[in-house]
Amino acid sequence: MRSEIEKDYLLKAIDSFKRRIIVVSPEFKILAYNRTEIGIDSDIINQYCYSALYKRSSKCNNCIVSDVQKNNKPACKNSREINLNIDFEENSCLYSYPITHDNEIDAFVILDFDFPAMGDLEGQLQRTNAFFKNLILSSVDGVIAADMNGKVFIFNDAAMKISGYTREEALSSLDIRSIYPNNGAKDIMHKLRSEDYGGKGKLKHYRVDVVGKNGIIIPISLNASIIYDGETEVASIGFFHDLREEQQVKKELEKTQIQLLQAEKMASLGKLAAGVAHQLNNPLGGIILFAKILLEEYELEESAQNDIQRILRDAERCRDTVKELLEFARQTKQVMRPHDINQSIRRTLFLLENQTLFHNIKITKYFESSLPHVAGDIQQLNHMFMNIILNAAEAMEGKGTLIVRTHLLDKKDRICIEIEDTGPGIPLDVLPHIFEPFFTTKEEGKGTGLGLSLVYGIVENHGGEITAKNKSNHNETGTIFIIELPIAGSNDENK
Ligand code: ADP
Ligand code: MG
Repeated sequence: MRSEIEKDYLLKAIDSFKRRIIVVSPEFKILAYNRTEIGIDSDIINQYCYSALYKRSSKCNNCIVSDVQKNNKPACKNSREINLNIDFEENSCLYSYPITHDNEIDAFVILDFDFPAMGDLEGQLQRTNAFFKNLILSSVDGVIAADMNGKVFIFNDAAMKISGYTREEALSSLDIRSIYPNNGAKDIMHKLRSEDYGGKGKLKHYRVDVVGKNGIIIPISLNASIIYDGETEVASIGFFHDLREEQQVKKELEKTQIQLLQAEKMASLGKLAAGVAHQLNNPLGGIILFAKILLEEYELEESAQNDIQRILRDAERCRDTVKELLEFARQTKQVMRPHDINQSIRRTLFLLENQTLFHNIKITKYFESSLPHVAGDIQQLNHMFMNIILNAAEAMEGKGTLIVRTHLLDKKDRICIEIEDTGPGIPLDVLPHIFEPFFTTKEEGKGTGLGLSLVYGIVENHGGEITAKNKSNHNETGTIFIIELPIAGSNDENK
């Protein structure tokens, strides 16, 4: 039992509480209330709560006491839901709980309390929503959310850019399932529901292709999750990271690395070759000279003469190779002047046409007239054409068609020369090596493997590019060498 003093203090404590506390009977009659200074002027004991507090003639629609009565447990409500009068502050909550006696509800306590943040809750909510909306719309990754029927309800700017659909198109008629090729959506949902790809309802960094509006396939890294309401799946959201640019950069990096490696290899081999060539030049000169003296000045029997002829021939071949090596290492002085490339090719062809190897080869020229000049060393340029054309004739084994084309490229700062043959083409495992020094598929004595490495060096020296490819036409074999050279006066030439 409480003492009178305790009861007195308890009442004082309740009365000094700055919020309203009211006790009502199951019939909604006010049994007690705290005498706090807020509100209520007259005595309201025994009045109906809806009448005393809300000036209503009947029970409130949203009556909190009825909720407690019905569910037999405490309830909490925003006062606004009950359409409060001025006695209750606008952003307060009502809290109600039953007072029981012998397991029967005896009365209900209603208290209103302030929800400090509640005043601005809606504003805050709106700001948060706007913030999230902006966050999603401006995300660099495509964000697409769809309900479980595939209907899209979020489609941000990046998603438009990646897919090519406008937001209106996506929201009105795009079925999310149709952006994955080959029934891929099913697979993704399966993975989302599994535990194995980042946890249930989640999919992390999943590499997938999607189909854009115009049918192009876009490589994507996908982060996705299922949105649940309790246990029920209600939607899915995906963050689509476009991999195209990354892949392009990676490809270019690989290409540059290969080119660097190639260039490095060329440079070191070039130095080596030049050193060896110098060393060989003098003794070779001696061998040739003395072999000639032997032949001319001595009466030798025929078989000895034949042997020396052989020595002479082989020594001369060595000398030619050494010459080529020196050229390869660019030990000869170069003179850069503007030249007419059509003219340079014509001269080379003129020299070659009379060789037996070319007798059964048809030569077709498609030269663009008034082609801008190229700044270059004419000897090197001639040598370059000579090597490529000789290779072509050798590949065709002396019969077939040689087509030479020249034209100005679209950007007008480079010209392009194509030299095409009807030979067997270059096997794919050989193709990556053809520009390497000493790489040859020809039998010993026939090829030095230096021709194309020399060509490569010359093209590079002129700020150009060279590629070789096989004809894509299935009915016909053959190789095409494509050389691009900067025109005289363009920036490239000085690179
Ligand atoms: P070589 O002619 O001494 O063998 P190259 O450097 O000129 O050396 O050529 C290297 C290799 O490239 C050749 O051995 C050949 O396998 C290949 N090749 C070059 N041009 C052609 C071509 N037009 N058709 C087929 N293969 C070619
Ligand atoms: Mg060759």
